[in-house]
Amino acid sequence: MDIPEIFGEDTFSLSEMQKYLPEDVFEKLQQTIQEGKVLDLSIADSIANAMLEWALARGATHYAHWFQPLNDCTAEKHESFIIPIENGKIKMDFSGKMLIKGEADASSFPNGGMCTTATARGYTVWDCNSYAFIKNKTLFIPTVLFSYNSQVLDKKIPLLKSIDALNKQSLRILKLLGKECKRVITTVGAEQEYFLVDSDKFNARTDLAITGRTLFGTPLIKGQQLEKNYYGILPTRVAKLMAEIDEKLWRLGILAKTKHCEVAPCQFEIAPIFSVVNIAVDHNQLLMQTLQDLAAKHNFVCLLHEKPFQGLNGSGKHNNWSICTDTGENLLEPTDTPAQNMQFLLFLIAIIQAVDVYHNLLRIACASASNDQRLGGQEAPPAIISIFLGDNLTKVLQAVASGKLSKQSSKQTLNIGVDILPEIAKDSIDRNRTSPFAFTGNKFEFRMLGSSASIADTNTYLNTAVADVLKEYADRLESADNLQAEILVLLKEKIAKHSKILYNGDNYTAAWREEANKRGFFNLTNTAEALEHFITEKNIALFARHSIFTEEELRAREKIFLEKYYHEVWIEAKIMLTIWNREIYPAVQRYLLQLSELVIKQKTLAVKMPNTEQKLLQITNRVENAIEIATELERLVKEGNLLQDRQKRANHCAKNILPQMEQLRKVVDTLEEQVDREYWPYPTYAEILNIF
Ligand code: ADP
Ligand code: MG
Repeated sequence: MDIPEIFGEDTFSLSEMQKYLPEDVFEKLQQTIQEGKVLDLSIADSIANAMLEWALARGATHYAHWFQPLNDCTAEKHESFIIPIENGKIKMDFSGKMLIKGEADASSFPNGGMCTTATARGYTVWDCNSYAFIKNKTLFIPTVLFSYNSQVLDKKIPLLKSIDALNKQSLRILKLLGKECKRVITTVGAEQEYFLVDSDKFNARTDLAITGRTLFGTPLIKGQQLEKNYYGILPTRVAKLMAEIDEKLWRLGILAKTKHCEVAPCQFEIAPIFSVVNIAVDHNQLLMQTLQDLAAKHNFVCLLHEKPFQGLNGSGKHNNWSICTDTGENLLEPTDTPAQNMQFLLFLIAIIQAVDVYHNLLRIACASASNDQRLGGQEAPPAIISIFLGDNLTKVLQAVASGKLSKQSSKQTLNIGVDILPEIAKDSIDRNRTSPFAFTGNKFEFRMLGSSASIADTNTYLNTAVADVLKEYADRLESADNLQAEILVLLKEKIAKHSKILYNGDNYTAAWREEANKRGFFNLTNTAEALEHFITEKNIALFARHSIFTEEELRAREKIFLEKYYHEVWIEAKIMLTIWNREIYPAVQRYLLQLSELVIKQKTLAVKMPNTEQKLLQITNRVENAIEIATELERLVKEGNLLQDRQKRANHCAKNILPQMEQLRKVVDTLEEQVDREYWPYPTYAEILNIF
C-alpha cells in the first residue's frame, strides 16, 4: 500500500479541488476557506459539478448533509443523485443549491424548545471550511444546522463563531506587538481512548449493550495492578483491526499517528496529528465511527463509554489545544526571542485568566452522566479545574508578578525573558498526569473530556473565554501611552489575581480537594451540580459579547443537557432493575433451589455439611436485601418521573437514584461472588476482559 498515494483519497481535499475545479473558482474557494469568509454563491454550481464528477468517479450514488446536533452524535440524510429525464430514464445530478442548503425537521433533534413540531423547519448549510468525504458510497457534506428563526441547533456554528472571536482578538494583540499575520488559528489534537471487547460477550450483557457500561460486575482480581498493559504488545487480532482503522482514516484524510495499549486490560488509544479545530472536531467524530464500524467487522465491540468497568481506568479524550498564526508560528511556543516572550506571556496569562474566570464552563463542557462515572476515579482528573504549568514556568510568572521586571528599563525588561525562558522547554518533559489542564511544552492538554463526547463544546467555550480576555487586554493596551510598561503592569496584575487556578501538585489527593475548596473552586462531581453553574449573568454576557449564543440559545442548551442527563440515568436505572428482576433474581432463585435440595438431601442422609446451610441462609439474606434496595430504586425512579422542574429532576438523579443504584450493585456483586458460575446469567468481568 502506497500510503502517501491513498492518503485523503476519500476526501474532496484542497488538492482534489484543485484538480477538479476551474482555476478562478478554486482560488475563490481557497480564499474563503483560508480567511474564514462566507462562500460566494456564484461559484456554488461550479463546485457542486466538480464534487459530483469526483464522487461519481469513486462510485458514489448518494449525497448527505452531515451535521452535529446537540446530542453528541452526527446526523445524515442520504439523497440519491438521480433525477428523471425523458423516456423514463434518469441522470445523476447535483447542483450548487443542493450543496449549499438542505432542509431538516429540526424539531426531531434536541432543540430545548426552540422548535416545536409546528415550527419545525431547520436548515443545514455547507461549512466549506471542512472537506466533503465519501463513505459507503455516499458523498458527505459537512454542514451546520439552524432553525427557521436562525437559532443555533448544532455544535459547529458556535465553534466556528468562537474560532472567529479568538482570531479577531488575537490579531489585535499581535498587531500591537508589531506582528504581521492574516489569521490566528486554533489547533487541536484529540487523543482517543477506547475499550475492545468480544461482540458475543457484549451482546450477552444487557447493561453493556444498552448503556455502554456494566451496571453490575465484581471487579477483576487481576486488573491493572501489575502495570503490564500500558504500551504492552498489541495482540495480533487487535493489531489487524488497528491496521485497518489506520488505513480507513488515512483514506479519509485523517492524520492517524499514534496507537498503543492503554493502562487497563483491553483498553487502547489512538491519536491523530493535530489540525485546525474545526477539522479536528469532524475528524474525531469520524474516528469514533470508524473505530466502531471496523471493530464490528472483527467481532469486537468498541466501547467509547467513559467508565465501562468498575475498578479499572476510565476512558478519556485528551484535548491538546494551542493557537498559531497563518504563518505557522505556535503562539504557545516559549521561544528565546524577547519580543516573542512578551507575546508568549500575554497569551499564556490570558489563558490562565480565562480558565480561572470560566472554569465552571470548562467543567460543564465535559459534563455527562457517563463522564461523571470517570472523573475523580482512576487515572482521571478530579472534577475540579486547575492548571499545571510546571516549576520553571511558574517561576517565570512569579518573577513577573514580584515586579522585579518592571523596575528595569524597557529594553532590559524585554530582555529579561531570554534568561528565564529557555528553561521552559524542559517542561515538556515534566509531566503531571493528574492535572486536568496541563501546559505540555507548547500547548495545553485538557484531560477532563470523556471518551464518548464531541470535542466541540470544550473548544467553543475555551476559545470564547480566551478571546474575551484578549479583548480586555487589547482594549486596554490599544489606549496605552507606553505599551511595554503597560504590558508589564497588566501581566503583574493578572498573575496576582488569577494564579489561584495554578496547581502543580497531585490533583488526585484529598489535600488538593481541601485546598481547592479554600481557593473557592467547586468540586462539581456530577452533571446536575455542574449545570447549576451554566446560566449565570457572567456566562450569558460572555457569549453575548462575542455573538456565540443568545440567552435563549444558552437556556435551550441548559434544558437539553438536563434532559439528556435525566434520560441517561433513567435508562440505566430501568435497565438495572430489568436485569435484576429478569436475569439475576431468577438465576439466584434457581441456585437457591439447588442448595435447598442439597440441604434436604444432606439431612435425610444425615450427612453434616453446615457450610451449605450457612451459604443458603447468607445468599437468602442478601437476596432479601437486594429486593428491598431494588424496590426503593423503583420508587425513586417513579418519584423522578413526577418531578416537573428539570434541574430538580437532575438533582434527584444525582442525589437519590444513582447512589441507590450503587447500593444495588454492591449487594449483587457480592452475590456474584457466591453463586455458582453456571447459574450466573451473563459473562463476568474476567470473561469479558479477555480478548486474546
Ligand atoms: P501524550 O504523550 O500526551 O499521550 P500523544 O502523542 O498521544 O501525547 O498526543 C499528543 C497530541 O497533541 C497529538 O494529537 C498531537 O498532534 C497534539 N499536538 C501536538 N502539538 C500540538 C499543537 N501545537 N496544537 C494542538 N495539538 C498539538
Ligand atoms: Mg497519548
